[in-house]
Amino acid sequence: MRLDGHIHTGLEKSEYIVDPARNQKDLMERLSKAGLDGGVILSVDPLKFADWDPERRLQDCLDTCKGQEHLYPFYYLNPLESDALDQIDMAAKAGVYGFKMICTLYAPSDERCLRACERIAQVGKPVLFHSGICWDGVNSCNNNRPGNFEALIEIPHLKFCLAHISWPWYDECIAVYGKFNNAYYRRPEMSCEMFIDVTPGTPRRHREDAFRHLLTCDYELRYNLIFGTDCNTSKYNTSWAVEWQQRDDALYEKYCDGDVEDFKEHVYCRNILRFIGVSDEKPEKAIPMVGE
Ligand SMILES: [Zn+2]
Repeated sequence: MRLDGHIHTGLEKSEYIVDPARNQKDLMERLSKAGLDGGVILSVDPLKFADWDPERRLQDCLDTCKGQEHLYPFYYLNPLESDALDQIDMAAKAGVYGFKMICTLYAPSDERCLRACERIAQVGKPVLFHSGICWDGVNSCNNNRPGNFEALIEIPHLKFCLAHISWPWYDECIAVYGKFNNAYYRRPEMSCEMFIDVTPGTPRRHREDAFRHLLTCDYELRYNLIFGTDCNTSKYNTSWAVEWQQRDDALYEKYCDGDVEDFKEHVYCRNILRFIGVSDEKPEKAIPMVGE
């Protein structure tokens, strides 16, 4: 089975077709043509859909996923909203599998962001962050650098994912991953775990360079990489999804050590299921230690 770990609803409001049943049918057909069985569906952007209340944003995403075993709704949260913690409770109660945040207007270390992550961890859900330069039309680069997400290291049992390999800061992203992986074993009482979503991001010609850095570093990444496309539910781009799978598959063949089929199975499926709490796989990861 292959899943897309990063699908938006209403990427742009002007283009969004507000019709969850139609979107689901069209999406499932297009996913299938791309060799995919489902994926993570992110609710609409609260900044772009400012006239939709939280209930409507949540319901639209739930309706898009309704009845499909392998569509997993994520609630897109703006932690600056005064009722953000209540929104987390509401969405978790309604059955979302996780949360999405983009730090356009706040740093990851902002108290409101940290409190939101704390609550997300308490309700047992993961959070997917945008990371890297963000096409959001405003000055946000200092909020989206991977190093700034070290602030999350104090949140017990949080599972979080940085999207886009933090393009263009993929080396910094890999280094931060190494740190969290090390801390995961040094401080088992915290057990905050980081995942990396390889959704482009990366321009085509830079993909190999990014993957070479990612896959030939000494850190154990087999259990923490997640495939995604950044496509959207209204008109899922099948050829884009196929193209990136082909390019990535060739790079996994070229650079992966060990069992490549098992590696791909993890990136395209098992890691997403573990991230969202559907699988209880307990990987035995190598521990990165100083001096080794
Ligand atoms: Zn995205």
